[in-house]
Amino acid sequence: MENKKITPASKVHLRSLNLQELDQFVQMLGLPQYRALQLADWLHKKCVMDFSEMTNFSKPLRMVLAEHADTNRLELVEVPESKNHESLKYLLKTPDGHILESVLIAQQGRQTVCVSTQLGCRIRCSFCASGKGKFGRNLTAGEIVEQVSFIGRHQKKPVTNVVFMGMGEPLDNYEATMKAIEILTADWGFELGGRRITVSTSGITPMIERFVSDSRGRVRLSISLHSSNQETRSQLVPINKKYRLDELIQTLEKIHRVLKREITFEYTLIAGINDSSDEARGVARIASRLGAKVNLIPYNPIREMDYQTPNPKQVESFRKLLEAKHVYVTLRQTAGRDIDAACGQLRLDRELL
Ligand code: SF4
Repeated sequence: MENKKITPASKVHLRSLNLQELDQFVQMLGLPQYRALQLADWLHKKCVMDFSEMTNFSKPLRMVLAEHADTNRLELVEVPESKNHESLKYLLKTPDGHILESVLIAQQGRQTVCVSTQLGCRIRCSFCASGKGKFGRNLTAGEIVEQVSFIGRHQKKPVTNVVFMGMGEPLDNYEATMKAIEILTADWGFELGGRRITVSTSGITPMIERFVSDSRGRVRLSISLHSSNQETRSQLVPINKKYRLDELIQTLEKIHRVLKREITFEYTLIAGINDSSDEARGVARIASRLGAKVNLIPYNPIREMDYQTPNPKQVESFRKLLEAKHVYVTLRQTAGRDIDAACGQLRLDRELL
């Protein structure tokens, strides 16, 4: 992972820095090295949002820090809450005026933050609001990490899990995603176990191999499958035309067989498109080959598409067909659908009411 050279001329976003870079930063200011660890502690363990809260730094020192660096780059705009109080959507404004969305899902004692990695998404899956409209830019590692700090701080509860399933394709913003994972898992950072982090990808095959190798398989991998058929999958996930389903499966097979890594498939069920018995049998074949778990997500409506959500009976029958083939299946409840915070509903620069 490449480290950024810290220079006096640039005001740095401290949440973007790993420990080595924090070391460089304090050295540049002529401070002793232990200050780097103290900064990391305030930023990632105590999730402070201002230098004034760093009480083991003198006031003059805090002023010097503020002159050269920022603790935050995101600003809270709004936090709509779902009716069942299990999902909160955080609308956060970036320094260049975009509004990104992150989601907190509080279920079964877990505080899971779904982070965005890009402003918009270049993959443009047909069923997903994040890929509609113009692509903004990649988020920095600090902007990804700050979503977690912000929500942990706002909730006054530690975040237990992080899923890279918000706006954007994490492997299309690889360096920032990997650095955010480094900060989230480091003992000087958030100290989250790798099993508590999931990276979800649309299936950029070469990047999946690189990701599994670089992360040494410590982080969970989730693949957006959405169809077992090349043509249907290409309609839903256009990148499937470039990185074909059969190649994707071969890559995943290698990861599963050689590296013994667990794989989860995300499968958005859309009525009349990919919810047939044939599809279920196809998905079961792929999942069995890979020992993969399948997470079914009944389609969450977005205004741009007239796709329909399958009725509960159809969802159940799809699930049963998979289970009959001994595939482990979970059904993601439509958490946050009433506030457009469910899977596929996050969008860039939402119009505020
Ligand atoms: S589903 Fe994921 S990869 Fe596809 S457009 Fe939405 S954010 Fe991008």
